[in-house]
Amino acid sequence: MARLVITGANRGIGLELTKRYAAAGHAVVACCRAPAQAEVLAELAAGPADVRVQALDVADADSVAALGAALADETVDVLINNAGISGPARAHQSLWDMDYDGWAETFAVNAMGPLRVLQALHAPLKRAALGKAVTITSQLGALSLQFPTSYAYCSSKAAVNKVMRLASLELEKGGIAVSLIHPGWVKTDMGGAGADLTVDESAAGIMDVIDALTLETTGRFLKWNGEPHDW
Ligand code: NDP
Repeated sequence: MARLVITGANRGIGLELTKRYAAAGHAVVACCRAPAQAEVLAELAAGPADVRVQALDVADADSVAALGAALADETVDVLINNAGISGPARAHQSLWDMDYDGWAETFAVNAMGPLRVLQALHAPLKRAALGKAVTITSQLGALSLQFPTSYAYCSSKAAVNKVMRLASLELEKGGIAVSLIHPGWVKTDMGGAGADLTVDESAAGIMDVIDALTLETTGRFLKWNGEPHDW
């Protein structure tokens, strides 16, 4: 039995991961911005599964500190930095038209949030036999992708790729493995109904990738199906 912390656990990929890990008998700290509105999480927490709902806004330093304080004396085996936003309307995050406040918010959530949460949970992750710090990134953060779109979102995911790559180099000696996972194009509020994958397919793949993560494979950028992703 492992203890996981999952951010953005109230819907989309985060909710599916929460359900699956809980059903497999693991303990899940399911983090979401508005616990009072997270009805599915409340149902899970009230049932036999070991699910604890924790308020968390990953862009709010005090909120992340409260998560760290709540878990200060515990062991966390796996952190899944899943929370993310797509940023301003696509027309307003382009070469010609940029919503700068929206870009900053996108950065705060997608690029800075994962590092904040990792810092807050460093000690609990270090207590695990093999701590795993996983960030759900995107193919749109790959510098190799020749597809000009969504400047705010793409740059935030490119930044988190670099940040977690740096962290992997520093955390390896302390026994924490780091991974960046592109979840595929997934049918969620963000991905839309026309996406390639169901949340089940994506979450099942992500769980296999996390299972396979070791210190020997730390610092990689992988797809949900385990294939390497170009940087
Ligand atoms: P959804 O839009 O369905 O869900 C996003 C989740 O992130 C929600 O739980 C949302 O909470 C939470 N969230 C947003 N901002 C914050 C914040 N400041 N603090 C805490 N939680 C927050 O997205 P997906 O499930 O599709 O995406 C999950 C991850 O996968 C994201 O990082 C996304 O960038 C990435 N991804 C998704 C793809 C797709 O095709 N779906 C493709 C590539 C990457 P709330 O309900 O409060 O808004």
